[in-house]
Amino acid sequence: MFARHFIDSLDFAHNGRELRAIVPLTEMPRLQDMLATPEGEISYVVRGLPNINGKPMLEITVEGLCQLRCQRCLSGFAYPIKLEARLQLAQASELDEYAVEDSDEVDSITADKRLDVLNMIEEEILLSLPFAPKHPLGACQSVEEGSSQSDRNPFAVLAGLKNK
Ligand SMILES: [Zn+2]
Repeated sequence: MFARHFIDSLDFAHNGRELRAIVPLTEMPRLQDMLATPEGEISYVVRGLPNINGKPMLEITVEGLCQLRCQRCLSGFAYPIKLEARLQLAQASELDEYAVEDSDEVDSITADKRLDVLNMIEEEILLSLPFAPKHPLGACQSVEEGSSQSDRNPFAVLAGLKNK
């Protein structure tokens, strides 16, 4: 049975703690919606950084492989997950302020005494995925390039079948 990790995020950062785990993709329901097959796993490392730019942060590293569902042909393709992120820990009341200040630099999350680590990791993975994942051009299975099932003329498809 897989155990979810919860951390006191500020304490974790201030003490420079580190957490490593390997998680089956089946533990991430929101990610599952994007996948062609539920199999696979990721490994992650969460590190506490007590004082970067005067702020406590969490540094996240995630690696793994999943089978994304191609939006063109709906079959799966292997997609390597590899991301690094730094999340600044802020009190809820400070978040707006920092969001403006550091908009492109560092993302902020609310400092949480019981932070659901896997939920945070899943969120970061979802943010890193392509918006509409697709095979490279020409690599799709069974669907012609540039057309989808729905906009093909069914009679043209029939005619094509007769000629085979
Ligand atoms: Zn495809």
